[in-house]
Amino acid sequence: MRILVTGGAGFLGSHLSTLLLQSGHSVICMDNLITGRVENIAHLLGHERFSFVKYNVCDYLHIEGPLEAVMHFASPASPQDYLEFPIATLKVGALGTHKALGLAKAKGARFLLASTSEVYGDPLVSPQPESYWGNVNPISPRGVYDEAKRFAEALTMAYHRYHAVDTRIVRIFNTFGPHMRPNDGRVVSNFIVQALQGKPLSVFGDGSQTRSFCYVDDLVRGITELLFLGSDKTVEQRTDRKFLVTRNEGADEFSMHDPVNLGNPRELTVLEIAKLILELTGSSSHITYHPLPADDPKVRRPDISRARSLLKWEPLVELEDALRRTVEYFRKAI
Ligand code: UDP
Repeated sequence: MRILVTGGAGFLGSHLSTLLLQSGHSVICMDNLITGRVENIAHLLGHERFSFVKYNVCDYLHIEGPLEAVMHFASPASPQDYLEFPIATLKVGALGTHKALGLAKAKGARFLLASTSEVYGDPLVSPQPESYWGNVNPISPRGVYDEAKRFAEALTMAYHRYHAVDTRIVRIFNTFGPHMRPNDGRVVSNFIVQALQGKPLSVFGDGSQTRSFCYVDDLVRGITELLFLGSDKTVEQRTDRKFLVTRNEGADEFSMHDPVNLGNPRELTVLEIAKLILELTGSSSHITYHPLPADDPKVRRPDISRARSLLKWEPLVELEDALRRTVEYFRKAI
């Protein structure tokens, strides 16, 4: 396939581009580099099936030649970044998604949206299944990201229903690994960099809020499985009809066009992740406490029953192993 990856020089986009090239596909990587970095794709530049275009996906999109898939990963994704770029975040979720969907429609290409667990806001249900509608404050500072992604999901479903575009939506839970910026602001990168530099680990609030952390290799494997689901005729026939999955709480009927949670269900408090990173780095840094950002979700844990049944997907990399690999990356990067 010839695939456009918007946000291709970002943390996830760069891993995705690498995996797609390894699987024999061609990748056009588009990024305006506001949070993406050329160094994330340095190892791909010069590859015969890879090209990079510095461009804002909110502007009119024109790609020469055939295109089989559009993967829309462009967006600031760290709370620190979307607070710094609130309007760019809203625009890429709204205008950028519109342009990317329009391109997919014009080319007859499949479209995959990178959505987020933030669509669940500060959830009142845990773990969060895809059927949960969420608890989002639209006017809080982090509402810019939550609402942009909720709009992006709505637009994607409208293009699927109205224009019959073959769409997929992945709701990505907290993910970490190499290619995160040292000053990205997210909790795992912050704690590792602070631990390696002998600086205090900055816990927000009392550290009792929970997150569930997925290693990037597991995540991008799941994303490509969702993208390619249905590309083979036999699978198409099997997956075209509605799935019926019975869970303990009752029946959950869905198709491959409905959102799919991807993440690691192992849930830790922020304080637990801080202590684990101190242990794994052997750092003697201590912990300092800072005010909790507005509307910081108190719990977050994916229900991955849908991914299990649709994709036969499970995260495979143990948290400790994943953290060790990420620590090695940051030792060299800082
Ligand atoms: N957090 C923290 N210290 C930091 C950065 C984040 O305690 O230096 C907390 C943050 O308040 C949140 C959790 O860690 O409760 C995860 O934050 P992150 O920015 O990684 O992403 P989020 O899950 O909030 O989107």
